[in-house]
Amino acid sequence: MNLVLLGPPGAGKGTQAKMLVEKYGIPQISTGDILRTNLKEQTELGIKAKKFMDAGDLVPDEVVIGIIDNRLKADDCQAGYMLDGFPRTVAQAEALDKILSERNSGIDDVISIEVPNDELLGRLTGRRTCRDCGQGYHVIFDPSQKEGACDKCGGELYQRDDDNEATVASRLEVYTEQTQPLIDYYQKKGLLRPVNGLGKIQEIFDRIVSVLG
Ligand code: AMP
Repeated sequence: MNLVLLGPPGAGKGTQAKMLVEKYGIPQISTGDILRTNLKEQTELGIKAKKFMDAGDLVPDEVVIGIIDNRLKADDCQAGYMLDGFPRTVAQAEALDKILSERNSGIDDVISIEVPNDELLGRLTGRRTCRDCGQGYHVIFDPSQKEGACDKCGGELYQRDDDNEATVASRLEVYTEQTQPLIDYYQKKGLLRPVNGLGKIQEIFDRIVSVLG
């Protein structure tokens, strides 16, 4: 099962991806997470990506395509995977098709999580993440039991640098201009599975599982 999770920032891709990992036993491959790990470890890639991420812009296509090309070669991807946050441009989607067709493979389904724009700003600016285990929270919709601490592991909760209001606005614009065309791209290929992204986390998950059959 080779999946792509598509949707604007704040649609809940990361949350749903973690639940899908548990259900289907396939790895979540998030280019955003890989870039943030590189940033934390101050690698050359992380340092290069930082200025784009801080501005809410996309990291250049060739950088993320290289990351994905390598990652998909790993043993744990051979029985399937879930791409979260990649592709984000038509050029990335075309590169992915080329990489996969050279390996006699392809994408099976593209889950498009749909959330209206006016809902996204509040979701993103209230988002908090555990520094240790990556669990996500929201200060209003899904708060941790003890403020600032993760329910799962007790780790410190932090706000992503790019979840402030100014950067969020750029990220939403970038999504509309550069990523939204992928809806049409995958629709034409017959791979698009739209899912309503409003409601409880579990309800959205059930909808995804049902469109995957
Ligand atoms: P995310 O965690 O998916 O919201 O990604 C955070 C940031 O990482 C984005 O705003 C981009 O700067 C960068 N990024 C993640 N995935 C990609 C991608 N596929 N193409 C370009 N930039 C990306």
